[in-house]
Amino acid sequence: MQQLLPGYEPTHSEFVDLMTPQERIDRALILLRENEPDDGYYLAFSGGKDSVVIKRLAEMATVKFDAWYNNTTIDPPELVKFIKSHHADVRWNQPKHGSMMARVATKNGLPPTRSMRWCCDEYKEQGGDSRMKIFGVRGAESAARSRRWSEISMDAYKNTAICPIVHWSDAHVWEFIRSENVPYCSLYDEGWTRLGCVGCPLNPQSQAKEFERWPRYRENWKRAIIKNWDAFKDVPRRDGKPRYHAKFKTGDDMWQWWLSTNAPDYFRGDCQSMMLWTSEDGLPFFDPQNSQAIPREALGSATCSTPEENQP
Ligand code: SF4
Repeated sequence: MQQLLPGYEPTHSEFVDLMTPQERIDRALILLRENEPDDGYYLAFSGGKDSVVIKRLAEMATVKFDAWYNNTTIDPPELVKFIKSHHADVRWNQPKHGSMMARVATKNGLPPTRSMRWCCDEYKEQGGDSRMKIFGVRGAESAARSRRWSEISMDAYKNTAICPIVHWSDAHVWEFIRSENVPYCSLYDEGWTRLGCVGCPLNPQSQAKEFERWPRYRENWKRAIIKNWDAFKDVPRRDGKPRYHAKFKTGDDMWQWWLSTNAPDYFRGDCQSMMLWTSEDGLPFFDPQNSQAIPREALGSATCSTPEENQP
């Protein structure tokens, strides 16, 4: 490891960056070995570059684990093909409510938006209850992730999560993939830097690029959102007030709103750390005075963004 100036206190990621590649790998292997649970780890596998790295690290550490892929039903076809061909040992969690597009069309509430990502709960984060997990989450992916995650963390369901590459940069990940000859999805060679749900509302720029690359997914989102408007536009909320749907004259208006940057953006957070408490409409309670989501405790009988609890 490189020397630091006396008195300088590096951040975790600076510290890991100063390590040699072998030291970084050794640190990850020790972390996995030291914390290995008797029943083995539950390794959350998405098929992306970070997932292939944590799976290879778990193999190198010779710890017991089973890897699981949450079938979002809207991942890029190339990614799904890669998982099937290179990781046949990975088990699949199938979503409780069928395909995401069918759920968007029929769920009592708005389609997912940046501030209201109920689909992550249902499609991306299920599985591994009461197990110790391995996550490939990295702080370099966003400021929210950097604040939220450390090498030993707690997930949203209070399971311990070991995050062996949380302080790795993109360059460290690619260096490992190349030096260990780890197979990866071909989409990275086309210039994609992050893979996941096609059309995710989280990032309008990448959403537009994804819809250009996979236009059939755009049509599926559009059809589902228009169906949702049709189904709920005339159904009042439990308190008798009109739903958010009533703001739109047609289903196509709601689709255009969803595509635009005007879709609710009250609360910026992180997919893997979001637990938003929402109103009956599915919109987060929001305090306009201080730009903060209002804490759950302050809301009394408000409902949770989890669909079961959000039904009328
Ligand atoms: S990544 Fe995006 S589209 Fe996929 S489940 Fe999460 S919020 Fe929904």
